[in-house]
Amino acid sequence: MNATDRDCGSRTIELIRDVRAHLRYLAELGATHVEESPASRDLLKEWLERAHSLSTRSDEHARGLPASPREALEATVEEETPKEEEPMASKRRASAETRPERAAEQPALFGDLPLLPAAPPIEDSTLDDIRADVGECTRCKLHRSRTTIVFGEGDPRARILFVGEGPGAEEDAQGRPFVGRAGQLLNRMIEAMGFRREEVYITNVVMCRPPSNRTPEPDEIATCEPFLFRKIRVIKPDVVVALGAIAAQSLLGTKAPIGQIRGRFFDAHGTKVLPTFHPAFLLRAPERKREAWEDLKKVRDYVLSRSRSEEATR
Ligand code: SF4
Repeated sequence: MNATDRDCGSRTIELIRDVRAHLRYLAELGATHVEESPASRDLLKEWLERAHSLSTRSDEHARGLPASPREALEATVEEETPKEEEPMASKRRASAETRPERAAEQPALFGDLPLLPAAPPIEDSTLDDIRADVGECTRCKLHRSRTTIVFGEGDPRARILFVGEGPGAEEDAQGRPFVGRAGQLLNRMIEAMGFRREEVYITNVVMCRPPSNRTPEPDEIATCEPFLFRKIRVIKPDVVVALGAIAAQSLLGTKAPIGQIRGRFFDAHGTKVLPTFHPAFLLRAPERKREAWEDLKKVRDYVLSRSRSEEATR
């Protein structure tokens, strides 16, 4: 093996370590469904492709290393992971068999689970705990272009949590979510449902404004969404309304277009998630407002019926 091959080999191993470190980081943030998130999958796929291109640059090198990135990963895991006792291995297999179908469909990029530490998700007591953990966050590249972190606002015990994509220019300047034109439309939608803005909670998948209001990239979503999932666990809303495709895809771990999934309740993150159109889209396509209103009426009716049955059991 020459010096170039050795260089390729060590860069491949470095990439593998990066992947593992990122997975550990996500788990520490409370991500429990890394294998289900399209954003995470895209990021991992990109790393794997980069690792693969490095590991296959030289035929001679390929003879000295495992033949594929997956084998390289498995070999590294094999090397660095202590062998499990048989009972635990059986338990993991049993748990894998009982996972939902969607999870079972995911490619086993990392073989068995040892790459994902079994740390439980972070359980915060309050939103302030999460805000303190966010700090002056520089975890993803969006921190470079933001003015203010837009954490979210509203009733910390809200029955309805609205989740958008990310802050725009106005939100970035004021540090508040949905305060531009789309925010004004959202306010009217909330009021039409019979609530006040202060009675719901409003946040986004990413808390920093993407440059030129572009769509957040998969690695940015994958880095920031664990904070959103933690907010949901603290607020415990009856319904999370996913505003637009990015929010719906992040919350549901799907790549389905918003037109296919809007207006339906899904079980996710310990609550109901209902996707609908983003208010910014409705400003561009006002003829779709009626469909969005139909969706929001379902949310209103569901929340009111939950509230009534809770009162009846008091
Ligand atoms: S978008 Fe989220 S993860 Fe990225 S820097 Fe901002 S707060 Fe941190």
